[in-house]
Amino acid sequence: METYTGKSIFKGIAIGKVLFYQKGEQVVKRVKVQDTAAEISRYEAAREEALRQLNVLYEKALKEVGETNAAVFEVHAMMIEDDDYVDSIRNIIETQQVNAEFAVATTGDNFSRMFTEMDDEYFKARAADVKDISERLVNILSGRTDGQGDLEEPVIIVADDLAPSETVQMDKDKLLAFVTRYGSANSHTAILARTMNIPALIGTDISESWNGKLAVVDGYTGLIYVEPDEETLKELKRRQEEDLHARELLEQLKGKEDITPGGRSIRLYANIGGVKDVANVLANDAAGIGLFRSEFLYLEAEDYPDEESQFQAYKTVAENMAGKKVIVRTLDIGADKQAEYFGLDHEENPAMGYRAIRICLDRKEIFRTQLRALLRASAFGNIGIMYPMIISVDEVRKIKEIVEEIKKDLNEKGIPYGNVEQGIMIETPAAVMISDMLAEEVDFFSIGTNDLTQYTLAIDRQNMKLDNIYDAHHPAVLRMIRMTIENGHKHGCWVGICGELGADMTLTKTFLEMGIDELSVSPSFVLPIRKLIREMEL
Ligand code: PEP
Ligand code: MG
Repeated sequence: METYTGKSIFKGIAIGKVLFYQKGEQVVKRVKVQDTAAEISRYEAAREEALRQLNVLYEKALKEVGETNAAVFEVHAMMIEDDDYVDSIRNIIETQQVNAEFAVATTGDNFSRMFTEMDDEYFKARAADVKDISERLVNILSGRTDGQGDLEEPVIIVADDLAPSETVQMDKDKLLAFVTRYGSANSHTAILARTMNIPALIGTDISESWNGKLAVVDGYTGLIYVEPDEETLKELKRRQEEDLHARELLEQLKGKEDITPGGRSIRLYANIGGVKDVANVLANDAAGIGLFRSEFLYLEAEDYPDEESQFQAYKTVAENMAGKKVIVRTLDIGADKQAEYFGLDHEENPAMGYRAIRICLDRKEIFRTQLRALLRASAFGNIGIMYPMIISVDEVRKIKEIVEEIKKDLNEKGIPYGNVEQGIMIETPAAVMISDMLAEEVDFFSIGTNDLTQYTLAIDRQNMKLDNIYDAHHPAVLRMIRMTIENGHKHGCWVGICGELGADMTLTKTFLEMGIDELSVSPSFVLPIRKLIREMEL
């Protein structure tokens, strides 16, 4: 048995086999070969396997996310058989006498560059697809897995690092835990682990040699045991059962109100990243959804999700929540959340750069598509819309103008929409300082403590070296929260918290005393917080 320590970002115990996750982007070595015919046969076998995988993915996507989203796998299958692409690979193998991996990677790079340089937006977007199919082929040729292969059983994913776009594409039913070498506790990958309700460790000295071995991740102590001895395994299985039992006790709180013994009530909502998380929200009996991070719909996709597919996603969530509030945050892309097809430039300071509402107010077509989808879906439930990264009244007014234009158009076409509350995230110190003015413009505030802490303390939330001083309890942050609540209330807004601090049970009482109206937390925190509130001296 070997034992390693990491930093735990979500409690719980997972027992299962390790899958060592390889990044899609890998350095492909150029190797001279004698037998080019054998190399071409290897390539052809890999192509057959890729087509088989794409077919499986297409069928799966068709069932889970519908035809529009599944179509990308059909496009990939077509591209992999495209004559120009195939000829280029064969030609490189034959003329340069090199390995198939190198020929595929070179062809992928060349085609992707060619597409990027085209004027046509459609072809520009194909650059990411051609990279994707080439990576799939290289993975097959080199016997690597991309972590999403056809997993038979749930696994513990071990990786150097995981980007949110990678995490969100993993099959959640097949994930027991994450263990990574890098990553920060405040990153979106960490947040996703909490939303998925799985133990996760970062900063762990991982090794590829663990692949396929049995391991136990203990999210309480931050330990991973590789090939645990019998005694350890027995003890951790016992603790896992204890966990389950504690969970069962919490189940008894379902259907109960979120109210203190002294009669102070609060709305306890949940955060989600996609349609699939709604089951978890319902299972934990949250009173609504306080933050639907809609950008994950974009990160899961290979191209801009169209109005129809977004409409279906929002409508499904609204219908499943059956009249309970569903607050969807508009696209908050940028910084650590990157989708290749957006073609965002590399920036020195991405957290303070071209992101979130700044992109939406600049590339308005993307924003309009999302707002139309949201307004249409609002006819099917109780949808609220909120806007991220706001720093000025002017931004809010511009947004409201766009929303009014869309409503006017929907009215003219006789397309129904509901009575939508509009709010903003308070996640910049600027927004806090002018929260009295902003409150005049919107219905509600939701405090994004993750970014608010980052910008208030000038600490990059992605930088793992600074995790130990990223202190969301800093008095500056707590004063900002208080000020936001007071200004919101004075000017007619209700105020919630949807950042991770909302689930910090050492502060629940403080937030209630400050007058918070809503807390939106990862689904698995709803019942523990309900228990705390119902037993609180307040
Ligand atoms: C926040 O910043 O607190 C927040 C909820 O948004 P995100 O974590 O997605 O940036
Ligand atoms: Mg944020």
